[in-house]
Amino acid sequence: MTAISHHIPEPMLAAYAAGNLPHAFSLVVATHISICAECRAVVEAHEAVGGVVVEDSGAFAVSASMKADLLSLLDDPIPEAPVYARSGPYPGPVVEALKGREPRWKKLGMGVRQDILAEDKHGSVRLLYIPPGQAVPDHGHNGLELTLVLQGSFTDETGFFGVGDVEVADETLEHTPIAGAGDACICLAATDARLKFNAFVPRMLQPIFRI
Ligand code: ZN
Ligand code: ZN
Repeated sequence: MTAISHHIPEPMLAAYAAGNLPHAFSLVVATHISICAECRAVVEAHEAVGGVVVEDSGAFAVSASMKADLLSLLDDPIPEAPVYARSGPYPGPVVEALKGREPRWKKLGMGVRQDILAEDKHGSVRLLYIPPGQAVPDHGHNGLELTLVLQGSFTDETGFFGVGDVEVADETLEHTPIAGAGDACICLAATDARLKFNAFVPRMLQPIFRI
């Protein structure tokens, strides 16, 4: 694996550590930190600081007994999360989201396929499969899009993204990601709003594909 050069922005890592990210983005962050020691260290630092804030919080009028209760809760062993082993290109958190099954690829056209892993009113998270050399239709974004490469690579107007790299796209970016040569590009992509496709046909298909 080449070195990871595009990471999760720190405010997003802090929000993740505080449990304040929508599920779709949480899954991308959990997957990235499962393969990126650098971002994992940042999350752990924020979690440690979060604990200290609760302990030293003079800002809230918390009774001594309530504070003791809170602290004892924090000291309770956290139930062991099931640890899922990597399967092929899929790190543990993705294997967990797949509930042990193989991806169920649905065709999006031009060889591009997707498997929606989760969807709620705050956003959606999906696996995307892009054949080598294939472009994803040029599109803008109504909200935030977080794309983590699990296999292969892609390039767009902003640069090159290899395994482990994350692209953060927002309203200001219009891009046409193109998968690299070699292995098909498999990404984990989370969005909090529908994408804006510039071509008529993809726009027409959007309600069908829920992207
Ligand atoms: Zn990172
Ligand atoms: Zn995009």
